[in-house]
Amino acid sequence: MKLTRLLTLSTAILALLVCGMLGHITRNAWLRYDATNDGLQALRLTRAAMVAGEKLSFERGPVNAVLGDRVPADPARGERLRRGRAAADLALMQLDRALHAGTGSTLPDTLAPLHKALAAARADVDRLAALPPPERTPAQLKEAIEQMFALVPLALDTAGHATQTSELAYPRITRALIKARYAVELREYAGRLGSVLTVPLATRQALTPAEHTRLQALRGRIAQLRQQIQAGDSGGLALVLQRVDEVYFGEGLRLVDDIEQASAAGRPYAMDTAQLAQRYVPTMTPILALRDELLQEAQTQAENDHRHALRELWIAILSGVAILLALTLLLLIVRRRVIVPLLRVTHAVIRLGDGDYSRDPGGARRADEIGDMARALVTLRTNSIERQQLELERQSLIEELRRRANTDYLTGILNRRAFAAAGNQRVQRARQHKEMLTVLLFDIDHFKSVNDVHGHEAGDQVLIRVAALVREALRDGEILARHGGEEFVVMPTHCSLAQACALAERLRQAIEREPLTLADGHILRVTASFGVASATGPAAALDNLLHAADLALYNAKRNGRNRVESAG
Ligand code: GH3
Ligand code: MG
Ligand code: MG
Repeated sequence: MKLTRLLTLSTAILALLVCGMLGHITRNAWLRYDATNDGLQALRLTRAAMVAGEKLSFERGPVNAVLGDRVPADPARGERLRRGRAAADLALMQLDRALHAGTGSTLPDTLAPLHKALAAARADVDRLAALPPPERTPAQLKEAIEQMFALVPLALDTAGHATQTSELAYPRITRALIKARYAVELREYAGRLGSVLTVPLATRQALTPAEHTRLQALRGRIAQLRQQIQAGDSGGLALVLQRVDEVYFGEGLRLVDDIEQASAAGRPYAMDTAQLAQRYVPTMTPILALRDELLQEAQTQAENDHRHALRELWIAILSGVAILLALTLLLLIVRRRVIVPLLRVTHAVIRLGDGDYSRDPGGARRADEIGDMARALVTLRTNSIERQQLELERQSLIEELRRRANTDYLTGILNRRAFAAAGNQRVQRARQHKEMLTVLLFDIDHFKSVNDVHGHEAGDQVLIRVAALVREALRDGEILARHGGEEFVVMPTHCSLAQACALAERLRQAIEREPLTLADGHILRVTASFGVASATGPAAALDNLLHAADLALYNAKRNGRNRVESAG
């Protein structure tokens, strides 16, 4: 697998794994944060339900007062009832709002049974209050009050699910929430304790044994709740508990004791229901303060946890983004600093291997290992170029040597050795194709006297000029060579003996005609004698041909020179 592909593949796998891991962490942080959001909402709902329960408890105070009313009805008591109902309605409205703004797990008609029961209870109270007091039987009064009692658990139950949600989201607030619930119950039972006295006070009758028993049971429950609230408290609730002990357990319960004692002694009661409500209800206020203190503790703890969850979420998101950025950066750096230069170097090595030294490998200025490699390649390229040039020079030298070995140093035409090679090739071909082969030998006449009269230099010039003259007169493919001294050989292509003789005659005339101007200004004319020979087929051999031509040349000399003679 190619490196670039391997990198792409491993990058993709790595990115996938990292994204998966970061996604998981971020998702968990988000779920946790979302749960704390729901938890906060649920806590608000719990609080609204507790307040609604309390306001419904509170509404019983004015109810008791109105039910104990004489004729004519006291407008102040009616006004207090109206205010109590308004307070309960407001609390229910807020509970309703909290429910609808809630987690979505609550149904729109959660409060419907409570509203229905409340409307029925209020209607009952109003109906009873409209009756003249003597017509209000204890049973009727008791039933009206019982209906009011039943409302509080209904209100508290609406938040049951929400309380669970908030406890799940914030396990640390469970203790405070449970104690707040105890405080709500404490307030409720304290209210019920007062309500037990409504019928006796309203009817101005002594407490029945059942009412005594009920009072005892409620006192026991109240004391138990007080203990449960204090249990495990490390002093945080000390002040507010002390206030509850002083005000409710001191003043509030003393009022109940006084009425009970008056009943036992057969004395008339020192107060009616309204007066009891007016004096007894405020003694329960510290219980509400206790509840609020506990709810506040839960709220503060929940908000802290919520902030913590938000912080965790941000840390997860930011660290995730940072890790992805770092990974991307790392991969880009690896690509830019390793893979791409490595590819460039690889291509440069391949080019050098192919003998292409035209391009610089590049990257030699880098300070890293790739730079070392690039510098080594530059050196390799330089050495290779030098070697290539040396090789070219060697080739041209060899070529020059070969050329010189085959060339006559003075005239520039083929020498005798080269003629032997070229002539033998011609012989071979002529044998194969059964062609006629002809050879012309010519020798400059009285050349010795040229040397003697004009000097050796002039002789050389004559040789050069004669060679050039003949070369010019011949066609391409017709061989001309210096056979030795002032003797030359010509080998024409595809021609008969007669044609060869004609060629020899043309050359003879050309030499004879040409005036040769020497370096010292003298004009010379020379002549040459020609011997021509031919052969065909297997009998054709270069040596024999040359020998025959030589004999013919000898004849030409003997017969007066400057003439052409042919063999046989
Ligand atoms: P002939 O007509 O019978 O051929 O008489 P010739 O004088 O030409 O023949 P000979 O063989 O007596 O003389 C040839 C001369 O050519 C002898 C030699 O010094 C001269 N010679 C041979 N090679 C060269 C050369 O390269 N340069 C010069 N200048 N002279 C050369
Ligand atoms: Mg000669
Ligand atoms: Mg001669």
